[in-house]
Amino acid sequence: MPKTDAPLNRHDHCKELFPSEPAFRLKQIEKAYFTETMKGWEDVTTLGKEMRETLIKEIPWMSCTPVTTLSSKSGDTHKVVLAGNDEQLFESVLMRNKRDQWTICVSSQIGCAMGCTFCATGTMGLKRNLSSDEIADQYRFWKRFLSEKPDLPQRISNVVFMGMGEPLVNVENVKKAIHTWLDHTDLGPTRITVSTVGVLPVLEGILTDKDWPPVKIAISLHSPEEESRRKIVPTTAPRFHERLAQWTKDYEEILGNRRHHITFEYTLIAGVNDNEDEAKRLVNFVRKTSAVKVNVIPLNLVDGKAFTASSQSGIEKFKKVLLNAGIDVTQRKTMGSDIAAACGQLALTIKSGGKIVG
Ligand code: SAH
Ligand code: SF4
Repeated sequence: MPKTDAPLNRHDHCKELFPSEPAFRLKQIEKAYFTETMKGWEDVTTLGKEMRETLIKEIPWMSCTPVTTLSSKSGDTHKVVLAGNDEQLFESVLMRNKRDQWTICVSSQIGCAMGCTFCATGTMGLKRNLSSDEIADQYRFWKRFLSEKPDLPQRISNVVFMGMGEPLVNVENVKKAIHTWLDHTDLGPTRITVSTVGVLPVLEGILTDKDWPPVKIAISLHSPEEESRRKIVPTTAPRFHERLAQWTKDYEEILGNRRHHITFEYTLIAGVNDNEDEAKRLVNFVRKTSAVKVNVIPLNLVDGKAFTASSQSGIEKFKKVLLNAGIDVTQRKTMGSDIAAACGQLALTIKSGGKIVG
C-alpha cells in the first residue's frame, strides 16, 4: 500500500469480517454511527451479541479521536486536532454561520501535495489521504462537541471541503463520505460544498460519474491567466483557463440544473493578483464560462510567507469592477484567525512524542 493511501474504510472492513451478512445489516451498522443516542457498539442492540463482540474488538467506534480543541475569543469558531487510529494528526473547524447554525470545514487529506504558495497546508506536503470514515466522522465529532454544550445552537447545517487537502485527489473517499452524510444526517446536497484547486481530469470525470452527488463545487481560481496563476498555484495545468471554461459549459449542458452551484474562489493577495486590471481580466474570463458567482477571500496570513492581504478598500475596488460588469460577487468572512483556523491556515508540525508545535 503506498504510504499516502488512506486506512481501510470500516464498511469494507465489516464486509471482510462478515462476508455472508446481507447488505441491510451493514447499513444498520452505518446508521448506528450517526444515531446520537448510541455511544458505542454495546448500544447497537439490533445486532447479535456475537457480532457486537467482534465489532468491539475489530472496529473502533470512532475513526479519529480529539487531541486538542481550541476556541476563538469570539466563540464563533472552534478547531480540533484529530488523531487517526494510526496517530496521524489532522484538523477540522466548526464555524457559526449566518443562520446561527454551524458550518464544518472538513479536511480530506493530511497535508496537501499541491503546494499553493500562500497556503500553510501546502507547505506540509502530502502525508496521506483520509479515509471516508475520517472525513465523515468530523461531522460526528462536532455533533458530540455541540451536544456537550447545550447553550449553543445544535444544528450543523453546512459542510465545506475547505480544510486540509485537495478533495479531488482523494475523490473516492470524499464521495463515500458525502453519501454517508446524505444517507444518515439531515444535510442536503446543496448544503455541501467541495472546494478544489481544479484537478481537470477529475472535474471532467464528474460530468459522467453517476455516483457524483449533486453538491456545490467551488473552484479556487486566484488568477485570470495561466502564467500568473502558475506562480501561486504551481500545479496549474497547460491551457487551464481554456479547459476550465469549457468544463463549466459542459457542466451546464450535462448537469444543467446544477450550474448555479459553481463558484470561483479568488484569494486576494496584495500586489500579486488584486489590482483593477486583474479584476478586468477576471471579468473577461468569467464571461467565457457559465459560472455565475465569484467569492473573494481576503488572504489569511501564514507564518513564514511573505504575502500580505489586500486592504479592504482595495478589495472593495476589485469587487466593484466585477459588480459593474454584472458578476455576482460575495466576500468570505474571515473567522478563527486567532486560533489559526481560517482558510489556508491549517497545518501541523508534530515533534516526536506527538506534541503539536504549529
Ligand atoms: N484544496 C482545496 C480546498 C482546501 S483550501 C482548494 O484549494 O480549493 C480552501 C480554500 O482556502 C481555497 O480556496 C484556498 O485557495 C484558500 N486558501 C488557501 N490558503 C489561503 C490563505 N492563506 N488565505 C486565504 N485563503 C486561502
Ligand atoms: Fe492544497 Fe488547497 Fe492549500 Fe492549494 S490551497 S495547497 S490545493 S489545500
